[in-house]
Amino acid sequence: MRTNFSLAQLADPDLAAAERALRACVHCGICTATCPTYVLLGDERDGPRGRIVMMQEMLEADAVPSAETVHHIDRCLSCLNCRTACPSGVDYAELIDTARAHIETHYRRPLSERLLRGFVANMSVRPSLMRFGMMLARLFAPISRRLPGALGAMAEVARKAQSDAPDTFTLETSSDAMRVAAMPGCVQRVLAPSIDPAIARVLARRDITAVALEGAGCCGAVAHHLGREDEARDFAKRAIEAFERNGAAHVSIGATGCVVHMKSYADLFRADAHWHARATAFAAKVRDFTELAEPKSARPPSELRVAYHAACSLQHGMRLAGQGEALAATAGHEVLSVPEGHLCCGSAGSYSLLQPELSGALRARKLGNIRTLQPDVIVSGNIGCLHHLSGADAPPVLHLAELLDWSEGGPVPPALAHLKAVD
Ligand code: SF4
Ligand code: SF4
Repeated sequence: MRTNFSLAQLADPDLAAAERALRACVHCGICTATCPTYVLLGDERDGPRGRIVMMQEMLEADAVPSAETVHHIDRCLSCLNCRTACPSGVDYAELIDTARAHIETHYRRPLSERLLRGFVANMSVRPSLMRFGMMLARLFAPISRRLPGALGAMAEVARKAQSDAPDTFTLETSSDAMRVAAMPGCVQRVLAPSIDPAIARVLARRDITAVALEGAGCCGAVAHHLGREDEARDFAKRAIEAFERNGAAHVSIGATGCVVHMKSYADLFRADAHWHARATAFAAKVRDFTELAEPKSARPPSELRVAYHAACSLQHGMRLAGQGEALAATAGHEVLSVPEGHLCCGSAGSYSLLQPELSGALRARKLGNIRTLQPDVIVSGNIGCLHHLSGADAPPVLHLAELLDWSEGGPVPPALAHLKAVD
């Protein structure tokens, strides 16, 4: 596709990367039918090809985007299903990231949106604030259940958090093992504190020692998805510095949505050679749990029918489909293939809070597909998907590490507490 950027614009390395992606697009539309929002809404402007046209016009003009353009770009999940489908190799991530940053710096949103997005950006990276919100949502559950829109979605997230698991980051170590630095994260340790200890135990059985990455905090993925690039860079710098001090062989985190963001840290620093080099070195050391944990046969207390939900960050972001299923199958479970497994469940980071209607429709579609399999459990590797899919209308939901840990002799995870009787 022809582009019309000025030489001055192309001196910006982020715009230059976006322009390369635009030129690769031949407008064939093959990606359209794979886009979850197009599948739901049937509107070309809510599909990748339509969004690419709008993003090109917005970025070339270097002007304030229209409310209509922002509306349709905001509806994109950043699931990258379109990137997987594209035969021309269009890197849609370059476009949507640059577009979100442009909107954030050029467009003044209505006050209600600014407040909501600011709240999401701050709340999700402050565990103490999240715990306070969870306490309020539970205390006033009869009221919080009736809240509409984004407020109702936030209250739902808070009510579904684990309440009886220990909020500790316990680590089991082995001698002479490879050391992996575990990012403390933010959302997962508050919503599901049983996951990190399970990861540490599974890795320890494979002679890998998980060590806490002291000094790091949130990976910055939420800020990045909101287009708040300065904040995202600050989070990334903190993690990079902590890892350089730590000296572990690799760095990891239990949520695939965070892993894929950490693997692309270098893209945050294209205009800063010093930090670009450090971010590139850091990104080369980032490993997803499925890249660290070798398949290991086990005799689980019960063989479960597992609906494995491959998060978009895993299958489209990192292109690591298949390894999670293999790990669950080798651990002694029947792994079922979810119909429409390529479609996003609607979680998509903060999307479930910012676009609750579309997110809810995608969740219902995903659960409908999963129910046809009549599984015992839903298993995934991303806290956003796990939390989004969980609920009274869904089978029990647990992290892949919790399933493996239990299968290999570890404690019963909270989602499988009902199986205690048959242990
Ligand atoms: S992004 Fe790829 S698949 Fe989609 S319209 Fe462009 S070239 Fe075709
Ligand atoms: S990233 Fe996902 S939601 Fe966005 S255009 Fe691509 S397929 Fe559609």
